[in-house]
Amino acid sequence: IVSVRGLCKRFGDLEVLKGIDLDVERGEVVVVMGPSGSGKTTLIRCLNLLESPEAGSVSVCGAGLDCGAALSKRAVRDIRRHTAMVFQQFNLFPHMTALQNVMEGPVSVRGLPRAQAADLGRRLLGRVGLGDKYDCYPAKLSGGQKQRVAIARALAMEPEVILFDEPTSALDPELHAEVLQVMRELAREGMTMVVVTHETAFAREVADRVVFMDGGTVIEQGPPSSFFTKPAHPRVRTFLQLVA
Ligand code: ATP
Repeated sequence: IVSVRGLCKRFGDLEVLKGIDLDVERGEVVVVMGPSGSGKTTLIRCLNLLESPEAGSVSVCGAGLDCGAALSKRAVRDIRRHTAMVFQQFNLFPHMTALQNVMEGPVSVRGLPRAQAADLGRRLLGRVGLGDKYDCYPAKLSGGQKQRVAIARALAMEPEVILFDEPTSALDPELHAEVLQVMRELAREGMTMVVVTHETAFAREVADRVVFMDGGTVIEQGPPSSFFTKPAHPRVRTFLQLVA
């Protein structure tokens, strides 16, 4: 469902992605781990073209793009239609209630009538355990609740793949569980997910595959059963000792 080949991205002199290949199957949960600065966030931002790669190709659900030339607006739009992103800092609209935040995409991008978008929004907020918070503004919600609104907002776009960029990193530790629980349920329901996270317990339990990045390349990948118990690469062993 996602296929990335030879992806390269630089910021000025800094080569952040050095030729990444990555495939994600439908229904698969891929966790991306690695040290700070290894390019994890840049990689998932390239998957929906929030960053424009210099070289390589990205394809999501058949919508494809060769990144060398100028990005075609149509290809970018097609790829974005299939993906939704959940950010570390939630990125909710502060002047909109929880329900309005969830309705915004369906109304303005998918062209859904407001009443239908409101029904969908209420259903999705209920699904993430916020059935009593429709009318709350983000400032009145805890970090965990904000992130759950952000997940409902992502679901409202009916994406084929959800990209999570360190979804619990900005939260106090006691709020991680409620967000991870929602993600666990999505995984169980068969949602295709690419998750950048340092949450090893989540990766062990939920991931189908862990991809480890270091210095802009993928240095190891495999199912959590082998990745966590017998990593081949010394960098991975050192990293796991530090985070475990
Ligand atoms: P972390 O776990 O700390 O979030 P990461 O593995 O997600 O790290 P990236 O955020 O992808 O790493 O960043 C990789 C490198 O690219 C870092 O050195 C970072 O400073 C740099 N970088 C990221 N975004 C930009 C940008 N917009 N402009 C310039 N440099 C950037």
